[in-house]
Amino acid sequence: MNRISDYFGELTFGIAQMREKLPKEAYQNLIKTLEQGKKLSPETADAIASVIKEWAAQKGATHFCHWFQPMTGLTAEKHDSFISIQHAYYSDTRVMERFSGSQLIQGEPDASSFPSGGMRTTFEARGYTAWDPSSPLFIIEGKRGHTLCIPTVFFGYHGEALDNKTPLLRSNQVLSKEACEFLKLLGDVDVKSVTATLGAEQEYFLIERSLAEQRPDLILTGRTLLGSPSTRGQQLEDHYFGAIPSRVKAFMEDVEYESYRLGIPVKTRHNEVAPSQFELAPIFEGATIAADHNTLLMDTLKKVAYRHEMLCLTHEKPFAGINGSGKHCNWSLCNDKGENLLEPGNTPHQNLRFLAMIAVVLKAVHTHASVLRAAIASAGNDHRLGANEAPPAIISVFLGSLLENILTNITEGVASQATEAQIIHLGVSHIPDISKDYTDRNRTSPFAFTGNKFEFRAVGASANVSVPVSILNAAVADILKSATQDLRGLLAKKSGSRDEAIMELIRNYTSQSKAIRFEGNNYSQAWRDEAKKRGLPILSTTPEAVAVLHQEAATAFLVSTQVLSRAEIEARYHIAVERYNKTIQIELLTLLDLARTYVVPALEAQLHESFSIQSHFTESKAKSAGAARVKDLQNLYGELLEHLTALTSKTQEIAALQSEETQMQSLSKEAIPLMEKLRFACDRTELLVADKHWPLPKYRELLFSQTLS
Ligand code: ADP
Ligand code: MG
Repeated sequence: MNRISDYFGELTFGIAQMREKLPKEAYQNLIKTLEQGKKLSPETADAIASVIKEWAAQKGATHFCHWFQPMTGLTAEKHDSFISIQHAYYSDTRVMERFSGSQLIQGEPDASSFPSGGMRTTFEARGYTAWDPSSPLFIIEGKRGHTLCIPTVFFGYHGEALDNKTPLLRSNQVLSKEACEFLKLLGDVDVKSVTATLGAEQEYFLIERSLAEQRPDLILTGRTLLGSPSTRGQQLEDHYFGAIPSRVKAFMEDVEYESYRLGIPVKTRHNEVAPSQFELAPIFEGATIAADHNTLLMDTLKKVAYRHEMLCLTHEKPFAGINGSGKHCNWSLCNDKGENLLEPGNTPHQNLRFLAMIAVVLKAVHTHASVLRAAIASAGNDHRLGANEAPPAIISVFLGSLLENILTNITEGVASQATEAQIIHLGVSHIPDISKDYTDRNRTSPFAFTGNKFEFRAVGASANVSVPVSILNAAVADILKSATQDLRGLLAKKSGSRDEAIMELIRNYTSQSKAIRFEGNNYSQAWRDEAKKRGLPILSTTPEAVAVLHQEAATAFLVSTQVLSRAEIEARYHIAVERYNKTIQIELLTLLDLARTYVVPALEAQLHESFSIQSHFTESKAKSAGAARVKDLQNLYGELLEHLTALTSKTQEIAALQSEETQMQSLSKEAIPLMEKLRFACDRTELLVADKHWPLPKYRELLFSQTLS
C-alpha cells in the first residue's frame, strides 16, 4: 500500500507542474496572466499546450475536453480526440496526435442547448469556453483511453457569464481588492491579496442499485415521491458516526483513492444521522478550487457508487420522515501570509483585526440576507429549509456565547473581562483537562461562527457551491468597501488612536447588524415571530426567494462589485424560475404515473381479493370485519382516484399557463399541496395492501438493505 502523499494529485497538472516543466519565459508569462490578467501570447500558449500534451499522453490520455459548469448546476464536457490527419497520399491517411495553444485556451461549444436565461438571442447563440489557469488540469480515466479535462469558464458573445464559475472568480477578485484596502487601513500595510477559503461538507445517501432501479421516482427525480416511512427510521439515533458498513467502506475507499489522485484533499468520512446517509468532508482550499473540487467529487461519488452496484443520491430530501442532505459551506478569509482573518490571534492587533472582520461579515449577512437566501433556493432545498432538521429559511448568524459577550460589551462600551473559564474538567485522573473549543454549537443556525470560520449550513447537498459562495464573497466585498470609507471618516474625525477608530467602526457595524444575530432555537415559532419583528426576510419557498433577484435595490451590490451585471442577474432569475417549474413538473408527472400505473392497480388487486374472500364469510364477526375492511379499501380507492384526478387536471391547467411566473406560483401554491394529498393516499394504500401486491421497493428495503448495513 502506498502512502496517500505518494499518489496525491498524480492525475493533475497545475502550477507546480508548470513551473517544473515549462521553459522559464513561458512560465513567467503564465504567472503574469494569473496575477495581472495579461493575455497569453500564442507562442506561450503553444509552449504550455506542448508540455501538457506530453504529460497527458504519458498518462494515457487520448482525448481532451473543456470542462465547465453551466447554469444547470452540473458540469459539462465536450470531448475531442487529440488526433489530426495528415493526407500524405490520397489513399494513405496518417494520423498523429496534436494539441495546440489555441485548443488549450479557447473552445466553442454550441451554447444554444445550455440555459442562458434569455441572455442570448438565437442569432448570437455562440458560447465560448476559456481556460482558467488558476485551476489544475486533470485526467478522467476511461476504459480504452483517458480524457484530459481543462477547467474553463463559459461565456457568451458579449462576455456575459453563462456559467457558475465566472461569477465566483469575479467575486474572489473584488473581495481581495476590497479586503486589501480595508486591511491596509487597519495597519496591515504589506497585505497583497486575500482569498476566500472553502471547505464543503458533502452529505449523501447510498441505496442498493437493484432496488433503486425499481423506483422510477428515484431514477427520474432523485427522490422518493411516495413511500410510507419505515417503522424504524432514525429514532434509535444509532447511525450517526456508527460503524461504517463494509460495503460502504469499500465504496468510500475507492472514492477517496480517486479523489486523492485528482488532488481533492478529502479528509473525513462518517455515517450521518439518517439510515444509509453518509458524509465526506475535504480539507478546505481556496474557494474557487474548492468549488471545482466539490463538483468533481459529486461526479466521482455517483460514478463510483454505480460501479459498486449502488446509487448515490445528492438530492436534498430523498426520503420523507428522515433527515435530508445538506452541504455545509465552511468559509473564511485568508491573507497572502496564510493567516486566517477570522481566527483570533495572539497579538492585540490580530484580535482587533479579527473583530473588525467579524463585524464586517455580520453587517454583510444582515444587509444582504435576502440575496443569500435566494442563492440557496431550489425545489429540492425547499424540503429541507424549515423542516426542523436543517436551518430554516430565515437567515441569521450564530456567534456563540463568548464572542456574543465580547461584541455586546463592545457595543455597550463595557470593558471586556477575559473569559478564561474555557477548560473542561473530565474528572478522570489519567486524562488531562482539555481546553474548550472557542465556541459552542448551534445546529439550528443557518450561518454559524465555529471558532475560526463561518459555516453556511443552509446550502443544499446538490448545490453548485459557486453560487452561494460568490454571493457571500460579493456581500462581504460590498461591506468591506463601505467599511474602508467609514473607517477613513472615523480616522479623519478622531485625532486619537487608530485602534479607537477601529473600535468605533466595530461598535457601529455590530449595532447596525444586531438584528441578524440569533443564539436561540431557529426551529421555534417564537423565532419566526421575533424575526418578523426584527424585519428579517422570511422567504420560505423558492418562488419567494428568487423574487429577490428582481428587486433592483437588493441586488445592486452584485452590480457595483461587478460580480454580476443586471442582465446576468435577470438571466439567473429566469433560469431559477425555469428550473423550479421544470423540476416540479417532472415530479408531478412522475407521481401521477406512479399513482396511476403502480398504486391504483395494487389497490384494485387488493380490493378484488378482499372482496371475493369476504363474500364467502359465514361467521358473523368475520363477516362484519371483512365488510369493514372492504369499506376501508373502497374509501381509500375513492380518495385515491379523486386526488389523482384533481392533480391531473391541475397539471394540465398549469402546463397551459403562458407566463412562467404564474406557473411557478400555481405549482408552489396549488400543485404541491395536491401532490402531498395524493402522496398521502398512496402511502396509506401501501400500508393496506398485501406486500405481494405492492410493486415498489419500500422505505424499509431501500434504507435498511441488509447488504448495505
Ligand atoms: P467542525 O467539525 O467543527 O465543523 P472541521 O475542522 O471538521 O470543523 O471542519 C469542517 C470543515 O471546515 C472542513 O472541511 C474544514 O477543512 C473546513 N475548514 C476549517 N478551517 C477552515 C477555514 N479557515 N476556511 C474554510 N474552511 C475551513
Ligand atoms: Mg461541520
